Amino acid sequence: MCEENHADDHHGSEIYILRLDKGEEIVSSLVEFCKENEILGAWVQGIGAVESATLALYDLGNKEYHNKDLDGPLEIANLVGNIGTHKGEVTAHLHATLGDKDMKAYAGHLSKAIVAATCEIRLEPLDIELKRKHNKEIGLNLINI
Ligand code: ZN
Repeated sequence: MCEENHADDHHGSEIYILRLDKGEEIVSSLVEFCKENEILGAWVQGIGAVESATLALYDLGNKEYHNKDLDGPLEIANLVGNIGTHKGEVTAHLHATLGDKDMKAYAGHLSKAIVAATCEIRLEPLDIELKRKHNKEIGLNLINI
């Protein structure tokens, strides 16, 4: 992963521009980057392409994710989400819209994705730690605000 950062006049904090290269896994790479840079809360946006991905849909009734593996190439029409913490560990919550060769879109919770050509990410750290807490009724670790 390559990075460049600059001060943001509006927030006084830094915005990171990240480039992930072919073969890198997006979710784990983002978590690793945030751990290394002690980023405990951030918002993420991105575009690029993947050679494979696993999208998921959360089933509130069964309290479990239904995963779907996709084989690329697929364009990342949109990657969006956030970085937070759960029990002190950095976590990423990402969603993606992925387009196939017919420009049809798959969309969902992004469990895993392997970069094809490139992935360009804007990571905006927040001034707060985005703590998550398990919610029994929902079955997910929700933002605790
Ligand atoms: Zn999700």
